[in-house]
Formats: sequence, structure tokens, C-alpha cells
Amino acid sequence: MSRPRVVVVGLGDTGVLTAIALRRHGDVVGITAKPEFVSGQELGLRLARPEAWTRDYRIGYERFRGLDHARIVHGSATALDTEKRIVRVRLADGAAVDGAGGESPVTEEPYDVVVVATGVTNGFWRHPTLQDSRGVDADISLPHQRIADAETVAIIGGGAAALSSAAQVAERWPDKIVDLYFPGDRALPHHHARVWDRVRTRLEALGVGLHPGHRAALTAGDGGGGGGNANHDDLDDDDEHLTSATVSWTTGQAPTTADVVIWAIGRVSPNTGWLPAEMLDDRGFVRVEPTLRVSGHSDVFAVGDVAATDPLRTSARNRGHLLVARNIRAHLEGRPLRDYRPPRRRWGSVLGPLRDGLIVFTPPGRGVRVPAPASDVVLQRLITHQVIYGGVRSQRR
Ligand SMILES: Cc1cc2nc3c(=O)[nH]c(=O)nc-3n(C[C@H](O)[C@H](O)[C@H](O)COP(=O)(O)OP(=O)(O)OC[C@H]3O[C@@H](n4cnc5c(N)ncnc54)[C@H](O)[C@@H]3O)c2cc1C
Repeated sequence: MSRPRVVVVGLGDTGVLTAIALRRHGDVVGITAKPEFVSGQELGLRLARPEAWTRDYRIGYERFRGLDHARIVHGSATALDTEKRIVRVRLADGAAVDGAGGESPVTEEPYDVVVVATGVTNGFWRHPTLQDSRGVDADISLPHQRIADAETVAIIGGGAAALSSAAQVAERWPDKIVDLYFPGDRALPHHHARVWDRVRTRLEALGVGLHPGHRAALTAGDGGGGGGNANHDDLDDDDEHLTSATVSWTTGQAPTTADVVIWAIGRVSPNTGWLPAEMLDDRGFVRVEPTLRVSGHSDVFAVGDVAATDPLRTSARNRGHLLVARNIRAHLEGRPLRDYRPPRRRWGSVLGPLRDGLIVFTPPGRGVRVPAPASDVVLQRLITHQVIYGGVRSQRR
């Protein structure tokens, strides 16, 4: 019998890991809107120290040993035909990337099993635009430059992306005035309370002004700049999440101005416009069974931020790629599938790697500090690159 053909759509954080986990079990085809792996992780580090971020979070697909036998297709999936079992793909070419216009060639990729790993759009740092390397360069360097040029930076949001941005910007540029605004009494509402206690102390030590009880007004019609309120009801414009507009508060405080406002309010939209509507829940996320199989389709699976596994959609950071690979093998061999068990609380790093090291929080809120050299060499080079990714070649080869 010929090897099954598994098509993984979206080669971001979970798609790459899923393709690697499946390497011995089928002919793997990866479809990717980006020309290389561009992680969605560690926004703060990416904004403040893009060269350090790039070293670990932007990696040519050819450097992953586990992808050696996969075929990588640079293009955007535009449709899934479950009757014919094909994914339609608009291929990248010089004329059509980054919305530059021109007719792109299209192709069809047949599958025995397809994995949806197209993630979510999340402001200026996670989006599904078909890009070449120059487009990715600009995505990384322009926001960094804009913050570098600012004297005052306001960050709106109470999750890990907002907090890591505040910490990393304050550490990288101690002379800037950095303020963090979030709605509740404390930030990180989905983490154990102990996590916020420790993170707050760290942010205060870095000189970040903390402003609890601030809920930003999200008004329609004004896209930011020129003194009006920024519009965050419509995510069409990537600049929506990096503005210089005055911010108004529904919680009664006087409006706030800053040279740059980083919006990290967790308003995500799933990259699922290419999928049949019946596969999606009312917010557009992929409706999956506990096995990560798409309801009603035995040969379609979903994993990562796009998959409606649990309210926090946690499968990316909780080894969902291993379960999906295991269940695809079980499906192909006619064995029973296993269920995904989401943790009740968020865990992981919050502030990202700072100069004195990295703190990783466990679900019960304990912080484990990894000193800087160890976090670089042991965590990134050894554990992430060699164990989790199954081997990443060094850049100079
Ligand atoms: C090992 C690991 C550790 C993590 N640690 C943490 C942590 O400590 N703290 C924390 O908060 N989070 C952590 N996370 C979670 C992480 O922040 C996000 O959940 C993760 O980036 C989501 O991955 P994803 O693959 O679903 O989406 P993405 O990484 O965004 O990938 C989606 C990809 O699909 C592409 N795409 C979209 N549409 C199409 C299309 N139509 N055709 C082709 N391509 C398309 C996109 O361009 C993108 O490249 C971790 C995740 C992993 C894997």
C-alpha cells in the first residue's frame, strides 16, 4: 500500500511540529503563507530585540531536520473540498505576495488526511498574508523602529503579549516612559494569582507604570493617528494594533496619549475563511471533537490556536501536535483515537527571556527561573531545537 498523504495547512508553531511528528508515517505536504517558519511567540522580545528573536523564532524550513522529507508549498490555502479530498492553494509568486496584485498560479493538493493549523490573526504580529522574506523583514523591523523612535509607550492589555511587551521595551530602553493599562484589579486573569504577584514585582522593578482598572474604548470609524480613538472593532488594518492615537477609557479616567500605543487586547480572529462554514463554530474557530478531529469529517483534524478545543484554545502549548499526529496514525490504522485534556490554567513564560533569564510558570503558578545563559543554550538550543523540533541545523552551513 502506498504511503498516506498528509497535508498540513499552516506551518507556524503547531503546523511545523505536527509535520515533524508525522514524518515517518506518511508523505507530508506543508502549505505555508510564509517563506520560512515565523513563530507567533514572544511578541515583547520581537519588538524590543528583533535580532535576538529572529535567532530562535524565525527559521528557514530547510533547517529543520524533521522536515527533510516533507514537501513545502509556499502559498495560501483558499478552499477545502472534502468530497474530492483536495486543498486549493494560491501559490506565492513575485507578483502576488503581500497583496501587490497580479494573477497568482493556483494548484490543488490531494490528501488522505488534512490538518488545519492556520492559527489566528492577532494584530500586527500574527496574520495570514501571503509574504516573501522581504515582507517578513518589514513586519519585524518597522514596529521595532517605531517603538525605538518613541519617547513614551503605552501598552493596552492584560495578557502575556501585553506584559511581555511592557517588560521587554522597558528593559531594552530604560529611558523611555512605559505604561501598561489593563481592565481588572490584576493582569493575567487566566493564570494562577501567584503569577501576577511575581510578574508585577518584576514590571515595577523595570520601571513600568501599572494602571489597573483601565478599559479602553473601542470605537468604530477612526483607525488611529490624528488624535481620535483607535478603532479595534475592525482588524483589517495591521496598523490597528500599533497607533499613536489618544486612548479613551470606558472606566472614567482622563484620555491617555503616547508616542506609540501597543494594542495587545487579545482580540483574535481565526484564519478559517478558506474552510466550509459547517466546520466552524459561531466565532469562526474550527469545531473539533476531543480527539482534535473535525466534527463530521474523519479525515480532517485541527490543532493550535484555530481549534476550538476549550475556552482558552490551549492545544498549541500543550503538545496538541503530538496528539494530533498520534490520532492520525490511529485513524489510518483503524485504532481508537485519544482525547485532548486541556489544563485549567494558562502556563509557560509570560515576560519572555530578559537579560537576567527566563521565568517559566507552572499551571499552579510556581515560577521556575532559568538563568540567561542556561535559557539560551539549554532551553532554546538543546530542548527547543533538538528535542521539541527534532533537530535544527545551525544557520551557517
Ligand atoms: C512549543 C510551544 C511553546 C509555547 N509556549 C508558550 C508560552 O510559554 N506562553 C504562551 O503564552 N504561549 C506559548 N505557546 C503558544 C503560542 O503563543 C501560540 O499559541 C502559537 O503560536 C499558536 O500556534 P499556531 O500554529 O496555532 O498558529 P501560528 O503560529 O500563528 O501559525 C499559523 C500559520 O498558518 C499560516 N496561515 C494562515 N492561513 C493560512 C492559509 N490559508 N494558507 C496557508 N497558511 C496559512 C499563518 O501565516 C501562520 O504561519 C507555545 C506554543 C508552542 C508550540
